[in-house]
Amino acid sequence: MPPWLPTDLCGRIQMAETSDSSGEQPAWQGDQAPCVYCGQVIDRSTDRCPHCRTSFSVAVRQASREVVGDWYYLDPRNPSGRGVTFETLIKMIEKGRIKADSVVRGPTTHHDWMYAAETPRLAKYLGMCPHCFAEAKPEDTFCTSCQLKMNMRPGAPRPGIPPDLVKEPFHKDAYEMEQKLAETAAGTTEAPAAVPAPTPPPALAAAPTPRPESTPSATAAAAAAALADTGTAVADRPSRIVASAARRGRPKLWLVLILTWVTLIPVLLLAYFFIPPVGNGIRSIFGITTPPPPPPPDPLPKVDDAWIRNRLADADEAEQAKDYALAIAVIKDIIEKTGDVSLESRIEALRRKPEEEHKARLAKLRNRLELAETFSADHRYDDALAVLRNIGKEDRSWLLSRKVDVDKMEETIRAAQTQYVKQKKQQEQLTAMLTQAADLRTSKKPAEALSVYTQIGNTFPNGLVAAHIDLAATIQQLQAEIAAATPPPPPPPPPDEAVKAVADMEAAAAGLEKQEKFAEALAKLEEIKTKFDQKFWPDALEDRIRQVKAKKEALEFFGIDSPKK
Ligand SMILES: [Zn+2]
Ligand SMILES: [Zn+2]
Repeated sequence: MPPWLPTDLCGRIQMAETSDSSGEQPAWQGDQAPCVYCGQVIDRSTDRCPHCRTSFSVAVRQASREVVGDWYYLDPRNPSGRGVTFETLIKMIEKGRIKADSVVRGPTTHHDWMYAAETPRLAKYLGMCPHCFAEAKPEDTFCTSCQLKMNMRPGAPRPGIPPDLVKEPFHKDAYEMEQKLAETAAGTTEAPAAVPAPTPPPALAAAPTPRPESTPSATAAAAAAALADTGTAVADRPSRIVASAARRGRPKLWLVLILTWVTLIPVLLLAYFFIPPVGNGIRSIFGITTPPPPPPPDPLPKVDDAWIRNRLADADEAEQAKDYALAIAVIKDIIEKTGDVSLESRIEALRRKPEEEHKARLAKLRNRLELAETFSADHRYDDALAVLRNIGKEDRSWLLSRKVDVDKMEETIRAAQTQYVKQKKQQEQLTAMLTQAADLRTSKKPAEALSVYTQIGNTFPNGLVAAHIDLAATIQQLQAEIAAATPPPPPPPPPDEAVKAVADMEAAAAGLEKQEKFAEALAKLEEIKTKFDQKFWPDALEDRIRQVKAKKEALEFFGIDSPKK
């Protein structure tokens, strides 16, 4: 178990291993599962991991997949986090999340954990050379202080630089270890080709006589490569340290092999040419039945195998760093020196790269914009904003030049979100009031219900209300209900009876007037007015009322309150 793994995670892993044999429900059928980001076992239903605190929303899931790559950084919150792209790492540096003392690993460290400050290709984005820690800029390839290439370790010295200007790396021992590892790697890659068919490598086959370097041995091949390097131009050979390390590392075995072959080859050649049976025997040992074809003429100045390998590595590296112009220049140089026109297709591929990347970038951005729009349409504004937030400054200004304003899009989404929240609140209020009104209606309180419905009509926009209820119809219905509930007025007496009753009452009023009972007479006349429809009223009823009133008042005025007896 790696020491940086939290102990509770160790526990979980052991638990998962032992739970199989317990006979209970297997772990993978349960309610818990590993977090997709950190691998800790958590509830399946949760929407954010309690350990690494990462959200499981579609936007975040998608964004995390887009940045998956072969670079790792040690995050105490998520020690088993997935790898990210180099570009992501640079963005994290810009945001201050990766610092010089952060621990990272990736292709340039051969996945050894290292301080970011010591990591080839990455350190210069932190402003320093990974070898000597002198100040450096991301656009530099070689360190201006130690003159070593900053994109790899070991790093070749700047082409054309006098060897005495190349400085030693800060951590010399670690650097030399890296060189040893690099040599071993170069040796093992040649071994399988050399052992089964002991024919010399093509570049060396051109030589008229077999040379000691063509020894079919992995170690010898590595030694030959190191030896050959010392013979090439200063610009092309690896640093002095590489050569000296190679000499120090394996001089004895190398010497033994050369001496063995130097003595053996003349003997074999003599046997081959002068003793036919022996010659056939040797041919059959090497699997050759016909004499080997004459070596092809070498029209160009001989270029060393190791040099080609180094230059191809330079081209690969430039391509990885997306410096296609440099990669093309390097390949052209190789073609010029070797005449190997098969590399032309590589140049064509490199020329197409910027266009392909441009298209890929375009597709990715379009994908993001579409995703944001889909989320926005689903009222998932936070997710939409999260998707847009990941579009960097550079992409934004580029999109703006194509009339796509991401900033404005974000603004619009935020406005829509505010509007949506407001609408949702209004909707909730409306629902509450509608429920209240409906309850009042069912509990036979139509007047109260009517007042709530009227209030709804005055408070909320018509469109919103119409989605729930036909308000006008409801109000009309309620008004009818209320009207039906009030008792009807007593039916008016039939006309004949009314005429007679009015006449009787009029007569009674006249009688009372004669007796100077003006108040009672007045009451009688008023009673006609209230009890009967106007069409039954005697002529000049109002005039008579006024006359009786005047007489009553005159009587009261003269101080005679009570009528005569
Ligand atoms: Zn997690
Ligand atoms: Zn340096």
